[in-house]
Amino acid sequence: GHANSQLKGIWIQTRFLQVPPTQGCYQLEGKVALITGAASGIGKETATNFIKNGAKVVMADINKQIGQQTARQLGANASFVTCDVSKESDISNAVDYTVSRHGQLDIMYNNAGIACRTPPSIVDLDLATFDKVIAINVRGVVAGIKHAARVMIPRETGCILCTASVTGMMGGLAQHTYSISKSSVIGIVKSVTAELCKLGIRVNCISPFAIPTPFAMDEMKDYFPGMDSKALADMIHNAGVLKGANCEPRDIANAALFLASDDAKYISGHNLVVDGGFTSFKSLNL
Ligand code: NAD
Repeated sequence: GHANSQLKGIWIQTRFLQVPPTQGCYQLEGKVALITGAASGIGKETATNFIKNGAKVVMADINKQIGQQTARQLGANASFVTCDVSKESDISNAVDYTVSRHGQLDIMYNNAGIACRTPPSIVDLDLATFDKVIAINVRGVVAGIKHAARVMIPRETGCILCTASVTGMMGGLAQHTYSISKSSVIGIVKSVTAELCKLGIRVNCISPFAIPTPFAMDEMKDYFPGMDSKALADMIHNAGVLKGANCEPRDIANAALFLASDDAKYISGHNLVVDGGFTSFKSLNL
């Protein structure tokens, strides 16, 4: 008993000396998160941020190799599960894996999404591609919410997050298929909030501006085939409006950290727009 508490005291002291007492305002101490699309970009940055602020994180991604590698880099509070969000059984498995590993699921972040190359005119819309994108960006989000709710409802607590996009709020920023998928995410959040708010579960989404992650770079390469990566990244950044800042994965990760924390305990059904003012502006700043 005594020796134990002495040891504990030393441990706390050492820990206190090594780690600054506040990493940021919002803490996730004791919380367990499951993040889809966590091997790269926004998902990876959010996993890192959540762990830094005390959470245990299960990283789910279709890319097993990079996902496992990333989880290993993030240490003992990170683990990886292979998951294709377009398959309901994969989502269900990821949720069950999280609960069996950590005993609970507090935060479900439905972040995985893909871009697509479809013709710009609705007349030429390829409905097979449309179905494929909707299966990941919309059905994957719905399945994620469904299975998170399955384990959150009995505990009457939980936080569900999704990544939407400014392209889901305005027309003409991306091709129809992608825009439609992201406006659906914003709609899903409203619809599900209406049920789950009565059960103690918050549901929100984040709408980022363009960020030069692999996802956005792939998409842009098609439009501007001759440009190198640096020039493409600069172009994506320059499309923003806020002077002195670029939209980066950590801006989304910080928004997610806030929404996931108890400091956001009365925020539900919200679309947190992280766009440097873009959707209030009149046009691309090119
Ligand atoms: P990213 O390419 O860096 O990461 C996306 C991750 O999702 C990858 O690790 C990929 O393997 C994974 N993934 C793809 N399909 C999957 C599937 N079926 N199941 C599970 N995982 C899958 O891209 P990102 O920019 O971090 O994108 C994350 C989210 O942000 C997406 O929903 C995207 O639509 C959204 N978003 C991105 C931007 C941007 O400009 N980058 C802007 C607005 C919204």
